[in-house]
This record gives sequence, C-alpha cells and structure tokens, in this order.
Amino acid sequence: MSDQNASFEQIGAALREHQRFAVLSHVRPDGDALGTTLAVALSLQQLGKEVRAWNEEGMLQKYSFLAGSDLLTLPPSEPEDFDVVVALDTATYNRLGTPLNSIRSSGLWINIDHHPSNPRYGDLVHIDPTAPATGQIIFELMCAARMPVSPAIAENLYAAISTDTGSFQYPNTTARTFEIAAELIRRGVNVGRVSQLLYENFPQRRVELLRELLATMQFACGGKLAWFSLSQATAKGLGVLPEDNEGLIDHLRAIRGVVVAIFFEELPDGKVRVSMRSKQGAVDVCAICKSFGGGGHTLAAGARVKGALDEVTQVIVQKACEAIETAGIPSELEPSGESQS
Ligand code: 5GP
Ligand code: MN
Repeated sequence: MSDQNASFEQIGAALREHQRFAVLSHVRPDGDALGTTLAVALSLQQLGKEVRAWNEEGMLQKYSFLAGSDLLTLPPSEPEDFDVVVALDTATYNRLGTPLNSIRSSGLWINIDHHPSNPRYGDLVHIDPTAPATGQIIFELMCAARMPVSPAIAENLYAAISTDTGSFQYPNTTARTFEIAAELIRRGVNVGRVSQLLYENFPQRRVELLRELLATMQFACGGKLAWFSLSQATAKGLGVLPEDNEGLIDHLRAIRGVVVAIFFEELPDGKVRVSMRSKQGAVDVCAICKSFGGGGHTLAAGARVKGALDEVTQVIVQKACEAIETAGIPSELEPSGESQS
C-alpha cells in the first residue's frame, strides 16, 4: 500500500528493470480494461519482455478486432511465476478475478487506475481519479517513460479512451483527452474504422436484448430515476453474452429529466449485478454502490448484491430515490406522467 502516487518515471524504470510480466484488468472487462491491457502488453513486448495478458473472460468477441488481440487470453490452469504484475483499471484486488489463481509468485505489483474508490493495493501505485479513462494515464506513462507507442498500441489506447468517455462526451473528458486523441490519430489510428467497429457493429441479439430491457423500464422520483432489468430466463432465452449489455444503460441516461439510471442483471450465482449512472455530481452513485460492497466513480459505479432480482431492485431503487431527494435536485421539467413504481 502506498499513499503517494508513484511517478511515471519510477513505474517506467520498474518496467525496464524486469523481464517477466503479467498484465491484468477487471472482471466483466470493458474497452478501457482490454485496450489498456493490450497496449501495455504490446509495449512491454516491444521492449523485449516476456508478457502474459490475461482476463477472466479472455478476449471478448466484440473487441477482438483490436490490434494484437491474440495476445490477451484466459488465464492458464497451471500457475506461472512473474517478476511484475501490472493491474490496470481495476478498483479492487478481487475484481482481477480468476487470473489471480494463475500467478504462483510475483515480485512487484503495479496498480494503475482512475477509480477514486481504489484502495491503492500494490507496491507502485498510480491512481488518477481525474483521468476519464485508464487509457489516458497509460498514454501519459508511455510518453514520460519513453515506452514504444506503435500504431497498434495507439489503436488500443484510442479504443480505451473512446469507450470510457462515451465517445468523448462524459463530463470528465478534458482538453487533454482531445489532445491525446489527436496524438493517437497522428500515430496511426483510423478513427472511422475504429469507431465503426466499436459502435456500429453490434450483433442482432444485442438489439433484441435492448427491446426486452425497454419492456421492463420503470421510472420513479418524478422521472429522475429510471431502471430496467434482465432476468436469467430472458438472458438464456435470447442467448446473450455478458458483453452484450455494455452501454445499454446509456439509453436510460439519455432520457430528459433522468438523473440516475440503473441496470439490474440477475447473475447465475444468486447475486444481482447493479450498474448505476448519474448525470449530476450531487448524486454520487459510487457512494450508493459502496454501501452495498461495490464501488466505481461518482457518475458510474456498480456492485454485486446478494438476493433475488425483485428484492435487490426494491432496496436499491429506494436508496437511489433517497439520494436524489437528499441532493435536492430541482425538476428541469414538469414530470411528464405518473411514476410507475
Ligand atoms: P459498470 O456499470 O460499467 O459495470 O461499471 C461502472 C464502474 O463501476 C466501472 O468503473 C467499474 O469498474 C465499477 N464497478 C462496477 N461493478 C463494481 C463492483 O462490483 N465493485 C467495484 N468496486 N466497482 C465496480
Ligand atoms: Mn476505466
């Protein structure tokens, strides 16, 4: 544990000094998790290192277009020894998931992340909650430490930043984010191609899933809270993969007057995955998720809560309503109809 951020120079020196690396990111990975894992793994490979890039889900189908994606695999059943483990974009140690079982020994742990709730596990820790994506921190690290940023690495960092900023829209997107995007484009990113593969290449079943989710949509708190849910039965019926629901919550966030959006997903292990978004800093969804054992960012957070789908929905909806009321957010508009809850 370390209270102070390690400098990029310190991290760069540690990366150059050692030979065997494992690069990991969080369970239910998103574009930031997989993009940064590949970017760091590719850069280390170019420095002549031996690198494993593992994720609990392996490479997701929808991100398999990313340059170098073959590098990222499921963890092996036989554990391996490492000099350094690099954890990226992962708010808690446990969210690294099953790859942890494939590490027999490790010298140094490096933890690079942008989640404010990160408890700073590891030896060299760099947490920057102001960064909209871990990809942005990794770009700064690679420049400061003079690590290779090939066109393949640039593409992965661009995908990481584009997905975690909602295509450069979320409030933590800064001038620096655009400067970095511009630099990545100069280094070879084809924006049209990457954007089309990220946002206009969904399988039909994902849109069928959206139709089912919208059929369960409900509102409360005078339209400031919206949610929908996915049961195991529906997920099985449609044959959806866990990766299919990334981003669908944005359809709720996009509704005028909605301040908090929630997606409830029944998991096979008797828990419910809760995914929350807020449009106003006064309603901190990370604080709500933390009170249920989860975490994340002020405006985007999650938790896995034990219990039946209906019960968990009721408890969380109540908490979210309280948070909205406590924040005293005025209605921008007259509520358009009666609450359905
Ligand atoms: P999402 O809703 O997209 O799954 O996650 C939103 C944010 O909350 C992400 O930054 C993610 O890392 C974090 N998050 C999601 N679920 C959990 C959880 O169960 N525990 C913690 N600590 N963070 C979570
Ligand atoms: Mn991220």
